Amino acid sequence: MLDIKRESTDVLIIGSGGAGLRAAIEARRYGVKVTLADKVVIGMNNSTRYSGGGIKAALPGILSTAYTTQYEDPREHFRQAMIHGEYLNDEALVEIMTFEGPARVLELKGLGVDTFDAMYLKVHYPHGSGLIGPLVKTARKMGCSLRPGMVVTKILVEKGRVVGAAGVDLYRNRLSVFETGAIVIATGGAAETFLRNDTTVNTTGDGYTLALDAGASLRDMEIVQFEPYVQAEPGLPMMDRHEAEAEFHGVLRNALNEDFLLKYLPALKAGQLPFEEQFGMALTDIRERVARAMVTEVAAGRGDNGAVLFDLRHVPADKWKSDFASQYTRNVLLRGFDVEKKPVHVLPGAICTLGGIAIDGDCRTDVPGLFAAGEAAGGVHGAARLGGDGLLDPIVFGARAGRSAALAVNKEVEVSQQQIDEAHAAVERTLIDAPADLAALAKLRDTVKRTMWEQVGILRNGKAVAAAIPVLEETAAQVQAMRVRTLRQFKTRLETLNLARVGRMIAGAALRRAESRGAHFRTDFPQRDDARWLVNHFVRQSGKELVYTERPIKLRVTELLKQSKFGIEVK
Ligand SMILES: Cc1cc2nc3c(=O)[nH]c(=O)nc-3n(C[C@H](O)[C@H](O)[C@H](O)COP(=O)(O)OP(=O)(O)OC[C@H]3O[C@@H](n4cnc5c(N)ncnc54)[C@H](O)[C@@H]3O)c2cc1C
Repeated sequence: MLDIKRESTDVLIIGSGGAGLRAAIEARRYGVKVTLADKVVIGMNNSTRYSGGGIKAALPGILSTAYTTQYEDPREHFRQAMIHGEYLNDEALVEIMTFEGPARVLELKGLGVDTFDAMYLKVHYPHGSGLIGPLVKTARKMGCSLRPGMVVTKILVEKGRVVGAAGVDLYRNRLSVFETGAIVIATGGAAETFLRNDTTVNTTGDGYTLALDAGASLRDMEIVQFEPYVQAEPGLPMMDRHEAEAEFHGVLRNALNEDFLLKYLPALKAGQLPFEEQFGMALTDIRERVARAMVTEVAAGRGDNGAVLFDLRHVPADKWKSDFASQYTRNVLLRGFDVEKKPVHVLPGAICTLGGIAIDGDCRTDVPGLFAAGEAAGGVHGAARLGGDGLLDPIVFGARAGRSAALAVNKEVEVSQQQIDEAHAAVERTLIDAPADLAALAKLRDTVKRTMWEQVGILRNGKAVAAAIPVLEETAAQVQAMRVRTLRQFKTRLETLNLARVGRMIAGAALRRAESRGAHFRTDFPQRDDARWLVNHFVRQSGKELVYTERPIKLRVTELLKQSKFGIEVK
């Protein structure tokens, strides 16, 4: 029998990436008791830490442009985020991020982060540790209670409002039940849903299912961002390449040795001019187009061993020593592969989910007492994300969620014995005193990831996506039926179930959106269709069913609609 520990806190924050840490620090400023729980070591294995560390914010002359395009004026940042997001973004959230962002970034210095201006270049791998490390220290110093190894499994709701959460405590081998009226979900995204990805294995979309089961809605789940330059060389790690200078000079070639991007981005000139010089924007702002071009080449039979080639042979040797990012690629990622002599195979991998829990400007969800921020929340980036906004988002909305949660503290809440019993039974039901079939569990996880990559990946068509749905449902049912022996195995089982459930949500929304927009590309509907599809998809759980609804988008800044994306035509 699993022990139960009843605990109490004013604010519970789930997830210790950029959003969770920033939320914890902000909530603590209000003098309330803050508990920051993470299913792994605090601040350790999340997207923020493994990020490139490039932050976008209108701070002329202050932020580096090595990784991201920077704008001088928040109005331009706002405009570009909307244009790149192809209007699926919530204008109000974008306005908050772009106008509040500069102050939030500057404030990081006071929280101990002294490298925000050029983490990509200044911090040795992982670059995001320049942000995460100091924030963990500050949260600890301010007296936040840090709870590593706490896998939050359920948000407890009574009469429609939050009263607590249940979690499996891997360090103490027991179930913890937190009594609290204010919870922030900062659990990051779900890129691990795809076979090829560029995130940590922890990005299993736990926050999406926690919110869904608590009664909250999610939005725009069809939108998944893929990073182009993820290694696909046998024997090399499947991670995106972090060379700074060199990346922008590399040439993508197909098996015919053609510099194929020229076909897809007619404005691109042949030769090795830095991408930014040619487009006026960093490659990180246009990555969905590059990713699509790469997989299109492979699908057309012009790939090399199922991938394309990234040719860096012309990069002068000293460039590889010019910054930490390039040195890391050279010394760690390439593992002896001589990139000066031969091109390296690359193929995109999922990096971020851009849809997520629906929030308002104060990070409130549909459920009173439940807040969300960072990649767990949706609506900020629309159909495609600008490079650097992925870190600005958790910093800005993390702080907002922390403040909202602190202001929502409710000391009167009580978790009923019935709720504790149900949370306990839900975990107990999955446990057996016999060896678990871990190979079968791993196979089910692989089925989800393969199905999502092959049928709901970068090039989608209605038939393949529709066929993926029953596979994902059946896989979820099979995971549900599995029993495991230890709480660590319980975590793996829960994550696998979440991958199948989140995959189902993504597929359902991708099937509905019969057009192409941003990172969502339907080969059977290759054009954007504003007349029909200027809508957001919302999804919520009703009994066993997922219920999708559409909400028309009404842009306040309507002249944005007249802008063509990037000002360049893309085939
Ligand atoms: C390789 C990579 C490079 C990137 N580079 C950049 C970049 O340079 N610039 C940019 O703007 N964006 C970048 N991004 C995107 C950006 O880093 C992320 O979107 C952002 O950091 C997400 O922050 P977050 O706090 O929302 O989530 P995360 O940092 O992922 O943190 C989520 C945390 O929640 C925890 N958690 C999850 N489920 C549970 C649960 N059930 N119980 C308890 N804890 C849980 C996880 O363990 C994790 O610690 C990159 C992403 C990746 C993957």
